[in-house]
Amino acid sequence: MTRDYVVLCVAATGMSGTTLLSRMLGRLPGFVAVGEVGHLWDKSLIDGRACGCGRRVSECPFWGEVGREAFGGWDRVDARSATGLRGRLLLNHTPLPHPFALPLILHPRLSSTYAENLARYGDLLVRLYDGIARVSGARVLVDSMKVPAHVYAVCARPDLNGHVLHVVRDSRGVAYSNTKLVKRQGEGYRVQRTPSKSARRWLWINQAFRTLERRGVPTTLVRYETFVRSPREELRRIAGDVGAPLAEEDLAFIADDGVTLGEDHLIAGNRVRFAKGPIVLRADEDWRSGLSSAQRLAVTAWSWPLLRRFGYLPTPGGD
Ligand SMILES: [Zn+2]
Repeated sequence: MTRDYVVLCVAATGMSGTTLLSRMLGRLPGFVAVGEVGHLWDKSLIDGRACGCGRRVSECPFWGEVGREAFGGWDRVDARSATGLRGRLLLNHTPLPHPFALPLILHPRLSSTYAENLARYGDLLVRLYDGIARVSGARVLVDSMKVPAHVYAVCARPDLNGHVLHVVRDSRGVAYSNTKLVKRQGEGYRVQRTPSKSARRWLWINQAFRTLERRGVPTTLVRYETFVRSPREELRRIAGDVGAPLAEEDLAFIADDGVTLGEDHLIAGNRVRFAKGPIVLRADEDWRSGLSSAQRLAVTAWSWPLLRRFGYLPTPGGD
């Protein structure tokens, strides 16, 4: 049985502006933005981190209702076992790196154990999405988990209508953001990466989402830089692609100098999930002066095939 809602899977590397994009999508009629749902089990239920409204999931009216609707209450959910299943999906605690998960998802016969865990985790996600759809009444669920194995797992479910929102940002901008030391909510710091490592990661992740599109999964490609410059046009295009066309007044929260956000209930994601009121929308291009020429060259060299494909580099002959 397929559902009457679409799961719009935001697919991107980190540092691509997807939290803000998700919140803007969540303001559209018929849409609900729920953040990085794969972190509900560990970051929200176990660690007790706040959702976008500032409350813990156990105290948030929206998530409280979703928990009752989907599972009969969060106390009936074994968050540790769900976290373990998600870890097995990503091949954590195995010698195999994350990219090896993707062929296992596409070809379940390669490993029956993996396929079994994938099915169990998928069942859990379907119950969760069903609960979110019933409580919110939305027809488009915006899930910004982003990581390839999660997106693949959702799109592999025949009982879900997955649609990939592939968000790309210039690899040099991503690499520069990855060099910065940023304190996380709670404790510790965000993972820092060298520019070359960031570029290699950018390449495989974006290639993974292109593979999914080539296999026939409905996909909308959005460039972060285009989105912040023309948010109305891009939101209209995304909404049209998921069969939810917009009226002019649906975009009234966007002004020429920024956007006005309301209260959301996003799980995990960066601090933008807590922002309320007007916020400025501008492309972060600090990398143009922040990266050294050697770093810029290394990142460009590692990522050039897709940088060119996504229009960040001139193509020979201008095609
Ligand atoms: Zn909340």
